[in-house]
Amino acid sequence: MNGDSSPSMLAVEHLTVRYGRAARPAAADVSFSLNEGECVGLVGASGCGKSTVARAIVGLEPPESGRVLWRGRDLAEMPREERRAALRLVQMVFQDSSGALDPRMRAGDAVAEALWIHRRREFSTRAARASRVAELFGEVELDPALARRWPHELSGGQRQRVSIARALACEPRVLLADEPVSALDVAVQAQLLRTLASLLRRTGMAMLFVSHDLAVVRCLCSRAIVMEAGRVVESGPVDSLFSSPRAPFTRELLAAVPRLPPLCASFPAHPGAANPGS
Ligand code: ADP
Ligand code: MG
Repeated sequence: MNGDSSPSMLAVEHLTVRYGRAARPAAADVSFSLNEGECVGLVGASGCGKSTVARAIVGLEPPESGRVLWRGRDLAEMPREERRAALRLVQMVFQDSSGALDPRMRAGDAVAEALWIHRRREFSTRAARASRVAELFGEVELDPALARRWPHELSGGQRQRVSIARALACEPRVLLADEPVSALDVAVQAQLLRTLASLLRRTGMAMLFVSHDLAVVRCLCSRAIVMEAGRVVESGPVDSLFSSPRAPFTRELLAAVPRLPPLCASFPAHPGAANPGS
C-alpha cells in the first residue's frame, strides 16, 4: 500500500523462489512495492537473488510461496487474458543484449514484432509499424537508419537501446531493468543511464533498476532495496541509505564505492533521487 491507501502499482509479497531442491531458496520472503512513476533500485552482490526476483515478477520463475500483485490483484489468480494484459505493462530489459535479441531478426523488425504481438489493432499495417519503430528509435536516441542492421552489426550499447525500444513498444508502466548497463564500458553506461533517466521523466513510467552498483543506483533511483543471500536486508530512500546505512551489508556495499563515478556529476537525476552533485 502507498500513502493514500490505494494499492501500489506493483507489489511483491513474501516471495520465495527455490531452484530445484536447493537447500537455500534463491529469494526468501522478499517483499516490496513500486508506485507509479517511481524508480527503485534492487541492489546486492552477484548471486544474491536480484534476477530471480525480477524474473519471478514477470512469471519466468514460479514462486514456492508468496505473491506478485498488480494494482492490488494477485497476478497468479488473474484470468489468463487479464494477466497477459497486466504483464504487457511490465517489461523487462536484460543485461545480455545479444541474448535478448534474435540474431536472425533485424533491429527494426525486433521492435516491430513487439508491436505486432501486443498492439496489432493499432499497428495493423507494415507502414504504421515502420513509422512507430522510427519514433521508438528516436525515443532511445538511436539513428532510425540502424533499424536495418542485424544485432551483430550493432555495439553493445546500441543493442541495449534496441531492447529498450522493444520494451517501450508495449507502452509499459514499469521497466524491470536487470543490470542493463553492467556489460557496457563506463562511458557507454553513462550515456545509456542518461537516456533511461530522460525516458522515465518523459513517459512517467516506473523502473525497478537491478544493479550491483550502489553508485549508479544513487544517480537514478529515489529508493533502494538491498538484498543479501536471497533476503532483503535493508530498504529506504537512497539518501538515507547513503548517509546512515543500517545493515552491515549495506555498509560493505558502500565501502566498495568510495566515490561517485563521473557519470553522476552531470546526471539529470530522477525526481526524488539523491542529488549526486551535492
Ligand atoms: P543475482 O541476479 O543477484 O546475481 P540470481 O537471482 O541470478 O542472482 O541468482 C541467485 C542464486 O540462484 C544464485 O546462487 C544462483 O546461482 C542461483 N540460480 C540462479 N538461476 C538459477 C537456475 N536457473 N537454476 C539453479 N540455480 C540458479
Ligand atoms: Mg542477476
